[in-house]
Amino acid sequence: MTESSTTFGDAITAPFWSAAEERRLVLQRCGACGAFQFYPRLFCLACDAEDLAWVPAAGTGIVYAMTTVHMKVHPTLEPPYVVAVVELDEGPRLVSNLVGEPAGIGDRVRVAWREREGQPPLPVFEPDGGAA
Ligand code: ZN
Repeated sequence: MTESSTTFGDAITAPFWSAAEERRLVLQRCGACGAFQFYPRLFCLACDAEDLAWVPAAGTGIVYAMTTVHMKVHPTLEPPYVVAVVELDEGPRLVSNLVGEPAGIGDRVRVAWREREGQPPLPVFEPDGGAA
């Protein structure tokens, strides 16, 4: 077993967590066909190429689906909280939480970061009140 005290995640996900440490949201992008994907994989889901690079995401998207959790299922998550599928402007969807002001399906959101003890921050999303 290899010692990797400073790296979070495995060989495929470590670049994502390294960027998260700097509050940067990154996605894999295929050098062959240009497709973005998340979560990270060893090959492109669109064309099977293995020419994948990590690129910055805009950090903006829309609420694709959402639900409010009222039961306590995790010691650090105090209900009620909102679990959402966010469709990033680059295309990939990720499961996250909505924070801040209430948002609805189809609303614009932008990434924020939830700090965690001893782990990289998690990307969560808040309403994007910026210029439309
Ligand atoms: Zn591809």
